[in-house]
Amino acid sequence: MEDNAEQVARAELAMHLRRQNVAGRAVLAALESVPRSLFLDARHKTLAYADRAAPIECGQTISQPSVVAMMTEALGLTPEMRVLEIGTGSGYQTAILARLAAEVVSVERYRFLSDLAADRFRVLKIANVALVVGDGHEGWPDGAPYDRIIVTAAVEAVPAPLVEQLGEGGIIVVPVGPRDGPQELLKCTLADGLLEGERLADVRFVPLLPGTSPRL
Ligand code: SAH
Repeated sequence: MEDNAEQVARAELAMHLRRQNVAGRAVLAALESVPRSLFLDARHKTLAYADRAAPIECGQTISQPSVVAMMTEALGLTPEMRVLEIGTGSGYQTAILARLAAEVVSVERYRFLSDLAADRFRVLKIANVALVVGDGHEGWPDGAPYDRIIVTAAVEAVPAPLVEQLGEGGIIVVPVGPRDGPQELLKCTLADGLLEGERLADVRFVPLLPGTSPRL
């Protein structure tokens, strides 16, 4: 159960996001329907309704709500779409995608994070997410083609397998740039086999790490 302070903080964040003007009603409603505190560990729950990224397990971060709103809006989701997400992390962005699309396949490098996300989806009764533990650079060819792809960690260049797994007319939203340097959030559309990019914002994401993690 949420206490009063949490309800107030949630309402304030919702208002802040509305004022930011980065997303329309459907995306904002999806964000408001997902309790972000569920995706943070006990030590960081006080950060749940601040518009900032926060630390999660395995040295990773949960994305900033306004950036989640902007990326989700850029995908232009409709209810019949199938989405590939790279970097499940806490599962917060995944849960919002699941509210707006037919199916989400989400790839995460750390089994520990993937299992925690699975528990949260059970609590929220989200049943249209398939979680995969693997290297996101490879995407998940078994489920291709996807209508939309979202990458929630920074890459230096869009990995070729992801472009191959995107359907014609599809959109990929991805932060591109060096791991410690300036990164740009790009929205790329596949038209006649060519990827056309549009710059959305300057962003700061953790890097998409090479390979899989053998132990976690
Ligand atoms: N959207 C997430 C944020 C994820 S941070 C959220 O809101 O919680 C980026 C995630 O990408 C981390 O969980 C990290 O472990 C994962 N990641 C990093 N390299 C990866 C790779 N090669 N393959 C799959 N996932 C990777």
